[in-house]
Amino acid sequence: MRIFSATLATETNTFSPLPTSLASYKESVFLRPGEHPNDAARMCTAPLFVARKRAAKAGFSLIEGSCFAASPAGTTNRQDYEAMRDEILAQLGAALPLDAVLLGLHGAMVAFGYDDVEGDILARVRDIVGRQCVIGVELDPHCHLTLQRLRCSDIIVLYKEFPHTDVVERAEDLLELVLATLAGKIAPVMSVYDCRQIQSYPTTLPLMRSFVDKIKAMEGKDGILSISIAHCFPYADVPELSGRVLVIADGDKSKADALASKLGEEMLAMRGKTMPSYLDIEAAIAAALRLDAGPVVMAEPADNAGGGAPSDNTSILRALVAHEVPDAGLGPIWDPVAVRLCFDAGLGASLPLRIGGKIGPASGQPFDANVCIIGLARDAWQSFGPTKVPLGDCAAVRVGGIDVVLICNRTQALGLELFSNLGIDPARKRILVLKSTNHFMAAFGPIAKQVFYVDSDAPLSRDYRRVPYRRVQRPIWPLDEETQPGLIF
Ligand SMILES: [Zn+2]
Repeated sequence: MRIFSATLATETNTFSPLPTSLASYKESVFLRPGEHPNDAARMCTAPLFVARKRAAKAGFSLIEGSCFAASPAGTTNRQDYEAMRDEILAQLGAALPLDAVLLGLHGAMVAFGYDDVEGDILARVRDIVGRQCVIGVELDPHCHLTLQRLRCSDIIVLYKEFPHTDVVERAEDLLELVLATLAGKIAPVMSVYDCRQIQSYPTTLPLMRSFVDKIKAMEGKDGILSISIAHCFPYADVPELSGRVLVIADGDKSKADALASKLGEEMLAMRGKTMPSYLDIEAAIAAALRLDAGPVVMAEPADNAGGGAPSDNTSILRALVAHEVPDAGLGPIWDPVAVRLCFDAGLGASLPLRIGGKIGPASGQPFDANVCIIGLARDAWQSFGPTKVPLGDCAAVRVGGIDVVLICNRTQALGLELFSNLGIDPARKRILVLKSTNHFMAAFGPIAKQVFYVDSDAPLSRDYRRVPYRRVQRPIWPLDEETQPGLIF
């Protein structure tokens, strides 16, 4: 039995002022066949990672293709996308004959000239491997679950958790389903219900938590093989942006249709109820200062690099300094120029530094201050569940009572190492400002006494009616009140 696996992934914010190029992939995940490390899966590479571990015992040969993944940002350069895609397709062609293909994609990747990158990849893969080969795909729930992908693949499994702590487990589910299909034990059929809604669904909040626990309990019983919820990725101007429910049943399409419709209707009933409430910056600082014990986390989803934001907005930093807030930590601010200046000055130096506010209008104004350099780290990393995420060179500077973490590889606050790499103990801070939507909860949730979500003037507005969509299919909630949800596949 021969199985091929590869990864090509990023999450594209089509409104972001930061285009994504080959250099962006080289900064994150750029691994040729055989180069994937054994210690942990990288961004979107879990299918290959899991298959490598299982190959000998499950009795298949794994043919490894390239794994390319970039941090979320703007649209990917067309020539760079085509070069990476064609490299993987050439590896695939050379690996024939194949029984199955396992792809670690993201699901919200857009390249110039390609609204549906994953659909393009899957159509080309199907052309090469033929109808008999089983194509299994793992996607992020922040994806566009397009009809093209459903037509061109056999089994699609999305992560269920947000924060995405189950990337490896879902890759194991995918491999199990693919192996069972190859063994003739199951015959997967997929159904999809389109909820016609744009919303965020952190699974750390009670409503979505219980929904995800419920669908997990349904899997593996009564002919239901797998259930996935596509949350959608809100910051993309592509036609098929929408929340969708995917059910895979064993051979019985009407059963898959019925459950997808039932769960889809439950998702409709959750409109407007799955997101946390947001405070403005002043209210959040006042609320945090009223609490005696720390750390109090102030999360800033609007500047989340994980959604394609530049992560260099300084509005909260400015407000903390204006209020002379003591004993706070803030990070990460993406500012390679400032990091370079800090390394040039050296640990312990005091100097005037211009921080952030550089990439676009939504970055706001840069913040100028006299800072003391309190930490420097080359080639630093942070953990995110079972994966490792590179931060690049990092510097920590103290501005008044605030320790600010500056990074070179643009990414969001995920692991405690973001601070501890630089000698800062996040558990001892009174206030922690984290640029992240909800992934921070995996590591910072357990140490936080309280979490406040702040809506700042950074680019990822939490009110989707303010996002300047032009090409998204209408009607869709909350842009439109009346919608026509229903089965689409
Ligand atoms: Zn995601």
